[in-house]
Amino acid sequence: MPNKNYKNNMRKTRKVRVGNIFIGGGHPITVQSMTSTFTSDIKSTINQIKKLEEVGCEIVRLAVPDMESAKVIGKIKKAVDIPVVADIHFDYRLAVEAAKQGVDKIRINPGNIGDKDKVREVVKACKDNKIPIRIGVNAGSVKAVKKDNFKKWDKKRWALEMVKEAMEEVKILEDMDFKDIIVSLKADDIERTAIANEIFASKTDIPLHLGVTEAGTMIGGIIKSSILISNLISRGIGDTIRVSLTEDPVKEVRVGFEILKALKLRKYGPEIISCPTCGRTQINLIDLVHKLEDEIYSNSDIRKKAEGLKIAVMGCVVNGPGEAKDADFGICGGKGKGIWIENGKQAKVIKESEWINQIIKKIRSY
Ligand code: SF4
Repeated sequence: MPNKNYKNNMRKTRKVRVGNIFIGGGHPITVQSMTSTFTSDIKSTINQIKKLEEVGCEIVRLAVPDMESAKVIGKIKKAVDIPVVADIHFDYRLAVEAAKQGVDKIRINPGNIGDKDKVREVVKACKDNKIPIRIGVNAGSVKAVKKDNFKKWDKKRWALEMVKEAMEEVKILEDMDFKDIIVSLKADDIERTAIANEIFASKTDIPLHLGVTEAGTMIGGIIKSSILISNLISRGIGDTIRVSLTEDPVKEVRVGFEILKALKLRKYGPEIISCPTCGRTQINLIDLVHKLEDEIYSNSDIRKKAEGLKIAVMGCVVNGPGEAKDADFGICGGKGKGIWIENGKQAKVIKESEWINQIIKKIRSY
């Protein structure tokens, strides 16, 4: 069960600065996402980051597959407010350029970029620009997979290989006196991800970025991510999260915050209680609630005003008013009109076409 002590139970981790945000060191668990645009398409990338900012995204990662993408980071940074992370594989020159462009964090695995001199170049660029590095170890790409018959591995063995590789990557950086490190250990299932994070957490004070990789589409992805994140956070493990979904990244951010909100770790918009609908429902309640959520969550001002409010949207006037009793306000639908409920009392009748406006107006009045 969610418990307010989660905050106090957090594992003690070192504090790492990413732009204007801190990860670890007792700071609130942050929610991240990743753009799905071509990074070199500056306009689309900025537009998508702006949408992510509106829903509350706190750190955004961009794929940097080539020099063209690395060189536009400065322009993107100027147009957005949240810290930007460059996701780089293999080519150290992209990391050096991203650092020069003012990126706030680099995700790269030092073991993938070749000889020590190249790693040293990346570390120097990060030190000069005071930016951290995230080492991201994914189950499918651990080096031992290529050498060994992984089909014989059980989940624990696999998780141990992930931890071993993460520790080797950390050592490369720490041997160069670089400590601003965040680590992620991700698999596409809960077991390997949870075991790997648990073991890693017992060995270091490095902050952990949690998530299930390739988690899938909305329903399956949300379930896997929620179970993993709540399981680890309930044991004090986890400093930042990314819910990976085959979806618009805006939804990843909303899901991430909803998980933290359910665990009572972060506040995020209102609590909307809505009924499942039944044979008594005479309005398109499902559509209505989705529209209402979009209005609230796509506008950070409204979302913040609504923080902590309980809003009811019920399908009928038979059970609705009773179920909505402890909401701050809400609507119980009839045919083409509905009853406005406020502090448990039936206040007035309003037309269906006015419901969303009325709720938004009420939120703005707080
Ligand atoms: S609140 Fe009314 S419409 Fe909604 S499920 Fe209950 S009885 Fe049905």
